[in-house]
Amino acid sequence: MKDKVTEALKTISFGPAGGNLVSAGIVTDISVQGDKAVFSLHVPQGAKEGVAVVQKEAEAAVSAIDGIESVMVVLTSDRKAAPPAAGKKPMPKLSSKPDRPVGPDMRPVAGAIPGVKAILAVASGKGGVGKSTTSVNIALGLRSLGLKVGLLDADIYGPSIPRLMGTTERPDIKDNRIIPVEQYGIKVMSMGMLQDEESPVIWRGPMIVSALMQMVREVEWGELDVLVLDMPPGTGDAQLTMAQQVPLTGAVIVSTPQDLALIDARKGLKMFKNVDVPILGIIENMSTFVCPHCGESSDIFGHGGAEEEAKKLGVMFLGAIPLHMDIRHYSDEGTPVVIADGDGPHAKIYKTIAMKVAALMGEAEEEE
Ligand code: ADP
Repeated sequence: MKDKVTEALKTISFGPAGGNLVSAGIVTDISVQGDKAVFSLHVPQGAKEGVAVVQKEAEAAVSAIDGIESVMVVLTSDRKAAPPAAGKKPMPKLSSKPDRPVGPDMRPVAGAIPGVKAILAVASGKGGVGKSTTSVNIALGLRSLGLKVGLLDADIYGPSIPRLMGTTERPDIKDNRIIPVEQYGIKVMSMGMLQDEESPVIWRGPMIVSALMQMVREVEWGELDVLVLDMPPGTGDAQLTMAQQVPLTGAVIVSTPQDLALIDARKGLKMFKNVDVPILGIIENMSTFVCPHCGESSDIFGHGGAEEEAKKLGVMFLGAIPLHMDIRHYSDEGTPVVIADGDGPHAKIYKTIAMKVAALMGEAEEEE
């Protein structure tokens, strides 16, 4: 099917006489999942006008393929973190959504957060699977697509985002509102920024929930296309309350191959399903091990299992991130791999996942 998409895109003229979208090298990351096709068009500097025109043609050509029902085109450009140009079709549309009505079970209404167009929860069935590392790199991946991004560390048991993002700054407080810290072009907030590393706060159930809600609502996020929420690991009360009370656009589940087999990740899926939060997909982390010395790959925990499981569970598989020393090393240094080696193979995987997530969030919004 991917080949058919490539062929369809070759029919659109672009660049020097006789050239097309594919030969011009501006089409990247074609992905087909079921009847959905997603691809990006890289906008060369100064060619925005031309791309806006061919974008429509490209959409039409791919939509015409038998078996393709929906097409998402993501425009990327060299200008880092620039907002989509006015008047052009922006990145997947993340429209503001009104407050949700009270559900039939009378669960609390999840009121929209002013200025925040979409909220993505990054969750895992248990700790240590790389959820925070994934959240950070997806948030930075979304930013590299030109979106305005916030990152909230809701993992208050072990807030690691400040360390992963390499910031020790404390947020300002103005008019009783917390001003998030800016790092690598995104707005970041973590309970770890408000507490001492030496004397961590011991949170009890109700406190956890109110602290989390406060971080979502009392932080001055400003205008955001996406707020990425690094959820606390697991599927306990705090997670459930967050899933219920925060107007989540969708959730992704991070899982290691063995975690999926041990059904922890399934619990996460079930939790979001129970509270009607769309599951955008599963990300397999620590998939293949790539030896830093010889470059050879070995599947320590098995590989491909997550993709199989995702299929069985009827959830989209968003991608596999290898277990690689660079990812850990850059995290420890506080320069996530998407920043430290932005054109490298790992950054590319995170950016592709970010692109899919952005497209899927646009769809989740439209369905509501
Ligand atoms: P969680 O948020 O699920 O507890 P973290 O993101 O803190 O997990 O990751 C746990 C450890 O695993 C960290 O030391 C991190 O650097 C490392 N790690 C995460 N993903 C990878 C990966 N794909 N390759 C190598 N190390 C990773």
